Amino acid sequence: MQTDQGTSRCPQCDHEIAADPQYVTWCDQCDWNVDPTGPTHQVSARRQRREHQLADTLYRELEHGEIRRPGWTVARVGTYLLSALILVVLPLAGLVGGIYALVSYRPIWIGILLSVIPFGVTFLLRPRAHRLGPESHLVHREQAPRLFGLLDEIATKIGTRKVGLIELSPYPRIGFIKVGWRFTPVISIGLPLWAGLGPQERVAVLAHELGHGKNGDGLHRWVVDSAVDALQEIQLTSRNDESDEYRLELQTYHFNGYSNNAINSFLDATIGSMARGVQWLLTTADLRAGQREEYLADRRSAEIAGSDGAAGALERYELASTSYRAMEQALRFAPDVDPLEAAASAVSEIPAREVERRLRVSRLRETRSDSTHPPTNLRAKLIRARPAHDPLVELEIDESEAIDKELAGPAEAVLKELRSALR
Ligand SMILES: [Zn+2]
Ligand SMILES: [Zn+2]
Repeated sequence: MQTDQGTSRCPQCDHEIAADPQYVTWCDQCDWNVDPTGPTHQVSARRQRREHQLADTLYRELEHGEIRRPGWTVARVGTYLLSALILVVLPLAGLVGGIYALVSYRPIWIGILLSVIPFGVTFLLRPRAHRLGPESHLVHREQAPRLFGLLDEIATKIGTRKVGLIELSPYPRIGFIKVGWRFTPVISIGLPLWAGLGPQERVAVLAHELGHGKNGDGLHRWVVDSAVDALQEIQLTSRNDESDEYRLELQTYHFNGYSNNAINSFLDATIGSMARGVQWLLTTADLRAGQREEYLADRRSAEIAGSDGAAGALERYELASTSYRAMEQALRFAPDVDPLEAAASAVSEIPAREVERRLRVSRLRETRSDSTHPPTNLRAKLIRARPAHDPLVELEIDESEAIDKELAGPAEAVLKELRSALR
């Protein structure tokens, strides 16, 4: 119900609302039409209420109390015990079982046959360090002294290990992992998101990731992720996946003459469903710890970059899909437009009212108990609700631009690869 240019009335509460034909018209009083397309997956109203309740209790606990490192709650102890069982006890049992079969059965070929399955279990479930893919675009210290200088400054202020490598990606996200058996900290920078961040927002996203490093989340994640990977490996092995010759060989080695399908169905129904159950238990027990880790990393981010930078960066995250789309459009159709500039200006053009709408949508869509991150609007709200911090690390605009120049070469390689993939 358009009344005149630029304003209209909310059909639900009759409040006057601003209307911009380029963006969704919605009511900030009663949230009418705040999410016109609706969530991608449907959950029952009861489950949604329960999930909002859970998110709210965690939020309120953190708003009023100290944000502490997750203590040794039953869920946390359970997560570690279960992961240890999967990562240590099962592979060791396989190893011992295989050796026992080799030593005790004669003739030796029977021993060898009997040892294949236990050794296979050990091989499948062996703990693995995180590795970077061969196709990842890495930036080394000597290529980007200013960016590494900034990261070192943040790491020193936080009191955590310095970053060893930077990975550039074309996706709109920033990440942190520990790579290899030396657990080298690696920051992954998604170019379209990075391009749209102001200097203090850049400090904030880096401080958030290094905050995870300080809190030991990297190691905690590695333990839980490795256990989950091992469980997925078990499920894949017990499923009929003909694309994987190694697994097929392992499965059929002993059972020549039997129908492979029947054996697979049996394995899937027994071992496979057990692994699925344990995986569900593990991820569910770990969720709250994961959400708490995010709030805690946000607090570090606010301490280092200042509350405004930290909250601003979170709000930019909500616009990540817009920056990615603008970059992709430029790569596809506008050969003379700088794709990263297109990404940056796309987010800077979004009016505050639309940003607010998307934050409210994040509350509706991201409040899920199976989500690793709390909804962005609650994260930003928590930063703004707590006493404001002045920045400990400041990045000047020209320094921020100098960092972009350092990254220009490696970024070009990333974009070139994406451009040819899009064709
Ligand atoms: Zn309304
Ligand atoms: Zn995080």
